[in-house]
Amino acid sequence: MSIAENITKVRKQIREAAQAFSREPAQIHLLAVSKTKPASAIREAYACQITDFGENYLQEALTKQQELNDLKLTWHFIGPIQSNKTKLVAENFTWVHSVDRLKIAERLSNQRPEYLPDLNICLQVNISNEDSKSGCAPEQLVELARQVSQLPKLKLRGLMAIPAPCDDYAEQQQNFAQVRQLLEQIIIELNLPLDTLSMGMTHDLQAAVAQGSTWLRIGTAIFGERQYNN
Ligand SMILES: *Cc1c(COP(=O)(O)O)cnc(C)c1O
Repeated sequence: MSIAENITKVRKQIREAAQAFSREPAQIHLLAVSKTKPASAIREAYACQITDFGENYLQEALTKQQELNDLKLTWHFIGPIQSNKTKLVAENFTWVHSVDRLKIAERLSNQRPEYLPDLNICLQVNISNEDSKSGCAPEQLVELARQVSQLPKLKLRGLMAIPAPCDDYAEQQQNFAQVRQLLEQIIIELNLPLDTLSMGMTHDLQAAVAQGSTWLRIGTAIFGERQYNN
């Protein structure tokens, strides 16, 4: 199937999930995760009115940004961030979904250029069953949110999570429900106007919509399987 056909199919899935769970379709945004895929694939998606792209690897992302600088795209950084990479992230992205510690947030805040609008930030939370090492522990999340919300040139928007892959729909829902409840807790305890839940990938899109996702990060269902060894 072509990228255009894939996008049509994904949009249909999102529409159907939104309807099934009484969600406002306009509140569910599609982030096309283009890591490992060439600039030409991004052009194909852009031709279908996809404007937001997620990348995990900084160098790869910067190269593609150069190749695509004739298009009006919004770039989201969604991968782990090392401190020596924060400057280029702060200079070249509109969103960062994967902030999981204060040091990184402080560097992004200091390094965000004055001429750019505030950098949109999601805190990545490591919910209990997650196998990756990234993400802030839930117990430390409110304090991290409090500190990040006070940093200049950053706009704290909400939470991001990558639950361990699982085929069980009920378990997927439980994982995302935890993230939603953590967001609600932060909103209440800190009185912050957070509006973002970055959760749901190709295999758990429906459960994420059911639990309030506002950014679905979809790679495989749009661009096909990734190949890492070429
Ligand atoms: C690769 C990746 C995705 C996309 O995953 P798919 O299963 O291909 O849809 C989403 N979010 C993050 C953080 C990723 O690294």
